[in-house]
This record gives sequence, structure tokens and C-alpha cells, in this order.
Amino acid sequence: MWGGAAQHDRLPAPDAELAGAHPATLHAVACRAIRSWHPDLRALLAKAAVDETFFIRVRSSQRVPAWPASRVTLLGDAIHATSPARGSGANTALMDAANLCTALTGGSDVVEAIGGYEEEMRDYGFAAVKASRQAQTETSRRGNPLWL
Ligand SMILES: Cc1cc2nc3c(=O)[nH]c(=O)nc-3n(C[C@H](O)[C@H](O)[C@H](O)COP(=O)(O)OP(=O)(O)OC[C@H]3O[C@@H](n4cnc5c(N)ncnc54)[C@H](O)[C@@H]3O)c2cc1C
Repeated sequence: MWGGAAQHDRLPAPDAELAGAHPATLHAVACRAIRSWHPDLRALLAKAAVDETFFIRVRSSQRVPAWPASRVTLLGDAIHATSPARGSGANTALMDAANLCTALTGGSDVVEAIGGYEEEMRDYGFAAVKASRQAQTETSRRGNPLWL
């Protein structure tokens, strides 16, 4: 697997256009972006399965106010989608799963258990989103001179 990440203003076309672009076009964009990189890395990309190239627009959640607990709950990206910066989205989703499991097996009323899980999850989940967004901002402020 390979992946290239860039701020949208460093990409050659608007998001909507890239989202509809042919895999070969996207692959060509990536090849061009790394044209000054080490030949081994360029060879790796050149040998990739071109038809499997796809575009993702990375977005993250905004904090939402607390809601009344019920027998339906949320975890992971469904509630606190996090940008890949800081690599914490999947880890936070796993933490949700562990905490929800602990809450549900603790012996208290189900809705109360879910409410307790949600109260904690909203805090650490949206804190992870915020930290990731800050890391993303700092990284893009530094710029990547290699992404041409
Ligand atoms: C490029 C990139 C790099 C990342 N790197 C990292 C990293 O290094 N470290 C890290 O911790 N996190 C990373 N993340 C974030 C991480 O991938 C997510 O936070 C994590 O996958 C969220 O897990 P999830 O189970 O909540 O959601 P998902 O992994 O999105 O799982 C949801 C599942 O539900 C399925 N689904 C959707 N709708 C339906 C439906 N109607 N019926 C049935 N199934 C459905 C989907 O197909 C999917 O399999 C990265 C994300 C991206 C995009």
C-alpha cells in the first residue's frame, strides 16, 4: 500500500474534480508530486496497481452537545471522526469498544451504563479530534518541501 497526503491547496485540482478522477489520473498526480524523490520510492509507486488508486477527502467531526442516553449508542469514527494526523482515530475507536464493553458488563442498568460510557467518550473522543486537528495544522504550517 502507498498513500500521499497533502493540503488541498497543494493539489492540482479541486476536491470534487479529484474525487471523480480516473485512477490513472490520480496515480499520475502522485507520480508527478514525488518526481524529485529517491528513485526507489518512485519505482515503488510506478509498480503499484494503478487501477486501485483512489482519492479520499479527509474530514473530522465537530463536537456535538450531549444527548439523552438510550439503548442506541455510537463509537469510533461514527461520533468522533479524526484526521490521520497523530494516528489516534483507530486507537480511540478501540478504547470506546473496551470502555463500552466494561460499562455493559458492569451490572448496572443498560441505559445508565451507556450514558456513563457516552459522557466519558465525548470528552476523550473530541479531545482526540482536537489534538489531531492541531497536529494537522502544525504540520501543514511547516509545509512539505518534498511535495511538489
Ligand atoms: C489515511 C488514513 C490513515 C489513518 N491512520 C491511522 C493511524 O495511523 N492510527 C490510528 O489510530 N488511526 C488512523 N486512522 C483513523 C482510523 O482509520 C479510523 O479512526 C478507524 O478506522 C475508525 O474505526 P471505526 O470502526 O469507528 O470505523 P471504520 O473503520 O470506518 O469501520 C466502519 C465499518 O462499517 C462499515 N459500514 C458502513 N456503513 C455500513 C452499513 N450501512 N452496514 C454495514 N456496515 C457498514 C464500513 O464498511 C466499515 O467497515 C487513519 C485514517 C485514514 C483515512
